[in-house]
Amino acid sequence: MDRIEKEKMVIERMIRLYCRRRHHSRELCSECSEMLDYAHQRLDRCPFGAAKPTCRNCPIHCYKPGMRKRINAVMKYSGPRMLFRYPALAIDHLIHGLKKAS
Ligand SMILES: [Zn+2]
Repeated sequence: MDRIEKEKMVIERMIRLYCRRRHHSRELCSECSEMLDYAHQRLDRCPFGAAKPTCRNCPIHCYKPGMRKRINAVMKYSGPRMLFRYPALAIDHLIHGLKKAS
């Protein structure tokens, strides 16, 4: 699996977790599925491709302001919880997050 696919999976899990707990919906609500579509679209267009740093370390802030605020809330909520639910995935993400964009 390449970096972009992995990032997509991480962001999807984070958004699903957030939506389930915060919006109490079993499937993604329209607001969150819009956010997920947007996040995936940004990843598809990421100019770094496979060399992509995690979004936190990325020198390009490609999210539009409103969306960035929403995704930040998701990451803040789901980030720590991911460690318990998907430790391997979260740790991989953390380690990768230590690398800087080249
Ligand atoms: Zn939601």
